[in-house]
Amino acid sequence: MVDLAVQVDESIIQQMRLLCNKIKYYDYELHYRNNNIVSEAYYDSLRKELEDLEEQYNYILSDSPSLVIGCVLDTHNLVSHTSIMSSLKCAYNKEDVYKHAKMFNTEFKLIVEPKIDGVALSLKYEEGICISAALRGDGKQGENVLPFMLYTNAPLFIENFSGEIRGEVYTDNVSNHRNIVAGILRNKQVQNYNLKFVAYKIISNNKNNHIENLKWLSQYFEIPKYYIVKNIEDAIVYAEQIWKESYKYPIDGSVIKSEYYNYNMNNRYAKDAFSYKYINNYYQSIVEDIKWSVNRSGEYIPRCKIQEIIIDGAKINYINGHNFRFLNKNKIGIGAIIQIERVGNIVPQYISTIQYGENIILDKCVYCNNLLSFSEIHAYCLNCPERIYQQTLYFFKQLNIKYLNENILRRYNQYPCIEIIKILKNKEWITNLNDRKVHDQINNIKFTYLDIINALGISGASRTILNKYFNKSENEYTDTDRYISNYIQNHQEIINQLINLLCE
Ligand SMILES: [Zn+2]
Repeated sequence: MVDLAVQVDESIIQQMRLLCNKIKYYDYELHYRNNNIVSEAYYDSLRKELEDLEEQYNYILSDSPSLVIGCVLDTHNLVSHTSIMSSLKCAYNKEDVYKHAKMFNTEFKLIVEPKIDGVALSLKYEEGICISAALRGDGKQGENVLPFMLYTNAPLFIENFSGEIRGEVYTDNVSNHRNIVAGILRNKQVQNYNLKFVAYKIISNNKNNHIENLKWLSQYFEIPKYYIVKNIEDAIVYAEQIWKESYKYPIDGSVIKSEYYNYNMNNRYAKDAFSYKYINNYYQSIVEDIKWSVNRSGEYIPRCKIQEIIIDGAKINYINGHNFRFLNKNKIGIGAIIQIERVGNIVPQYISTIQYGENIILDKCVYCNNLLSFSEIHAYCLNCPERIYQQTLYFFKQLNIKYLNENILRRYNQYPCIEIIKILKNKEWITNLNDRKVHDQINNIKFTYLDIINALGISGASRTILNKYFNKSENEYTDTDRYISNYIQNHQEIINQLINLLCE
């Protein structure tokens, strides 16, 4: 799938890179720091957007999170799963449910059960003895937390059984329990928490029927309440009923699965089950206007002005519109009714469109009246004075020249800033006090080559990435590194001038 020879628009690759970085950041926060900073629905929507792009363009970045399921934490204490521990595809509405149900054989019955919002665990038994308890990890192998099973209700011995039992660990006495369970399992303070294990799946020879398996499991384990239905219409009815029922464990939707197993060795997603999620903290509002700004790359970035809603006491008037493609794809025009979700203290996020809005028409730049150009993702005003201003602002911000304020930049309005620097470097030109301070700063601070390249704001290249890039040889380059290399080559002359002015 990874094919560098394929011609894919650079803006698509940049969009993918942005999505990859976001997903990895959230993965890191969740798995390493037990920090759930975005909602699962929003996280899933990012992954879906990335996967859609990858599928559409048949192109996957070499470090794409689509190539792994989760992330492995403790590499010293890993257990390999007998078969891949895949995730469930999510349906957020009936349309999705019908779409996902196409992967099932319609001759088989369906099982509907609550989707427990806990921490997934796989218990491995050999000749009756529980030999490991592994977290999901990257789906192929996960961290062994066996000692903690002593504090749960799961049996450590099942006569004559060899195989894996999959289920979910939960605790019924805390609110934000998923993070807490994960934290407890890792931080080894289990005694005071009431950890419970619910089993819902068996990986073992000759146990290929989910209905029989649930009955078998119920002899030894707590199992979820489940319904057996004949068709997908009934499955929807029961799935939605489950949302309204109360359970000992927190749930975030329902699971619809086929009676028969489908072992899929290489897939991120299970082939015999998917989840039908209900959205917890959602709000509705109407899009009243769309405000566009131009960023330093010339991209048109939308913000959606919505009818004010109050969430946890905070007044919300705007929602991030991401980009032109995002608005168009989701038909978020003026008048659209949209669903918004907020988790914790993060900025509220768009989740879905309930009623389509007006078509989004972009033609001329709202700043300079030039005709806009379009890529698959963005609308652009490449020669916009606003873009020049944003680039210059970014450049000086990165160099931390703090007296260079908006007024000075608006006055000179130039990029790549060379003329501004020349003017402000030269004493004789300086008339006002603020310019004078900038002049002193530019002349007194010695910037490094890395400072200058970083301040140019090459897309996807953080200071850390640049630092690594400068210490690599060409055969170690990633996609991002090659992009940086091209950028530097194409801007060599300007870079040289900046170096001469600022690094002497
Ligand atoms: Zn413009």
